[in-house]
Amino acid sequence: MENSSPVKSKRFYKSLWRLAAGLPIVLGVAWSTPVLAKNDPNTLTYGELFKEVDRGVVSKLELDPVTKIAKVTVADATAPGKMRIKEAVLLDDNAELYNKLNNKNVEFSVQKSADKNAIVGLLGNVLLLVFVITILSAIIRRSGNAGGQAMNFGKSRARFQMQAKTGVMFDDVAGIEEAKEELQEVVTFLQEPERFTSVGAKIPKGVLLVGSPGTGKTLMAKAIAGEAGVPFFSISGSEFVEMFVGVGASRVRDLFKKAKENAPCLIFIDEIDAVGRQRGVGIGGGNDEREQTLNQLLTEMDGFEGNNGVIIIAATNRPDVLDTALLRPGRFDRQVQVDPPDYKGRLAILQVHIRDKKVDPELSLEAIARRTTGFTGADLANLLNEAAIFTARRHKEAITIAEVDDAIDRVMAGMEGKVVMDGKFKRMTAYHEVGHALLITLLKEHDPLQKVTVLPRGRAIGLTWSTPNEEHGLESRAKLMAMITVKLGGRAAEEIVFGKDEVDSGASSDIQSLTQIARWMVAQMGMSELGLVAMDTERQEYSETIAAQIDREVRKIVKDCHQQALDILQSHRGLMDILAEILIDKETIEGDEFRKIVDRETGRNESNQAKPALANSSNSGCTRKKAKASWVFIFS
Ligand code: ADP
Ligand code: ZN
Repeated sequence: MENSSPVKSKRFYKSLWRLAAGLPIVLGVAWSTPVLAKNDPNTLTYGELFKEVDRGVVSKLELDPVTKIAKVTVADATAPGKMRIKEAVLLDDNAELYNKLNNKNVEFSVQKSADKNAIVGLLGNVLLLVFVITILSAIIRRSGNAGGQAMNFGKSRARFQMQAKTGVMFDDVAGIEEAKEELQEVVTFLQEPERFTSVGAKIPKGVLLVGSPGTGKTLMAKAIAGEAGVPFFSISGSEFVEMFVGVGASRVRDLFKKAKENAPCLIFIDEIDAVGRQRGVGIGGGNDEREQTLNQLLTEMDGFEGNNGVIIIAATNRPDVLDTALLRPGRFDRQVQVDPPDYKGRLAILQVHIRDKKVDPELSLEAIARRTTGFTGADLANLLNEAAIFTARRHKEAITIAEVDDAIDRVMAGMEGKVVMDGKFKRMTAYHEVGHALLITLLKEHDPLQKVTVLPRGRAIGLTWSTPNEEHGLESRAKLMAMITVKLGGRAAEEIVFGKDEVDSGASSDIQSLTQIARWMVAQMGMSELGLVAMDTERQEYSETIAAQIDREVRKIVKDCHQQALDILQSHRGLMDILAEILIDKETIEGDEFRKIVDRETGRNESNQAKPALANSSNSGCTRKKAKASWVFIFS
């Protein structure tokens, strides 16, 4: 490396640049400002000039027509025989003066004394330009050589960064083992592409990381680049939003060009939803700049072969709003879920971040992990850092539980709006989710359970997933009834365990969506005693009596299903306790494991249902939400 300290040299250039830029300005101001103060002995007012000409002491007058300043050669009154040059500002029309000069035989000339202002300005500009070019190219050359040194290309707000070496390894990423396993392969794609291309396999171009902020998506992408030993290019979608039309697109073009030059390498696009939203929708009916940027991104992704060693990883928390064009084969056709960490995951993350800190041997990371349900990796990293700061402030040698306690309080105060699960709330949520999950498992008409968790995700407090395993898209009445029963299972479990008065508003979205299913059954599908009629529920074109009948039928369906949910759960009360205990402890239970426990406790044997894949799962089970649900149940 030619320079051991690129930062220092950058700073040096910066001050040089300031000096250079300042110089012409100072000079320009000094040279051009006509200093014509009244009492200055070197200047004459127009009146004084007249008098001097009259007195016959003026021998010569040179006029600059641009500035209207005349250089007047006058006999020096204090030193006889000597001449002085004074300046005078003339008027627009000086006919009278010229007459006088003529009469007195004063030598008179109009001289476009080359405009100093212009020259200085021009000179300044040229100087500036030369400086800018030299300095910029010097900086670019230097940082280009500096390994591991992050650099920004371009001066606009949306820029991309390049890190030759991220220095992050898989060991630094903890608690998201599933994602890590899935992404391990991407490292191999970058390291030995021949292994795949030689057997005709197409290497994927894009991977979409889906997960809440702070779960370690950026860290993960950096670790992939770090493990593969390739450069890391990154850019954030949100930076494009407020830019001029065309800038975003050209930035994307630059980014891909640079990346191709540095292949094999990894491009990371953070917050891709900011730029990759469905086109032609949204506030104001679409945003030119965003759409142009998105189109450019799509073009770039199509434009290069999958085997050229550039892999793009994008991160989002909202895969549902993405333009479908982005998710097509050959683009971001792989999705990897990055989940918030469960107890084991939090413990592992704490272990990573404690590595560089001094801790009291008494301090139990297990206890911290227990107390931090709902914390993301970023929250945990922040927590340990705050604890270290408290420790330093208190002049202690090592972090003790006292500092951790204070740090937890501080971090939680900053987590406003996020749900932290503890005590009764966690228990309630666990029973609610177990209610859904147990009914899913016991009702054979329902699609199999995929996963149940009490970890908050977005606005959802707990979640239960099932995977549709029928492909024809037609739903039988029995299945729809099972779905409604399952949706009622959360609330039913709360009622059984905590009593009717204790239930909370967490089931609101369950109730909303089950009502939709029931109405759909009655009003559209002819699945009630109302008979085989389809009524447009949107436009209310049917009579009041029919409306009342629909309501009655809907209520009947819901009531029957509710009773069924209560009956089934009540007769499995002991099993519910066991499952809730496990869920509170582990926070997430996979479908397979859940079925095994149910089999073991009930003596049935149905656990060998196919394990569903996450990619095409739907949360048709339950979404226990904090506020009003935005989630809509869709049937096709
Ligand atoms: P995201 O991109 O998902 O918003 P980041 O990767 O930016 O999250 O996480 C911010 C920081 O939090 C990381 O730099 C790291 O210090 C810490 N962190 C987050 N997740 C993890 C994890 N799974 N393991 C270790 N550290 C993590
Ligand atoms: Zn629910």
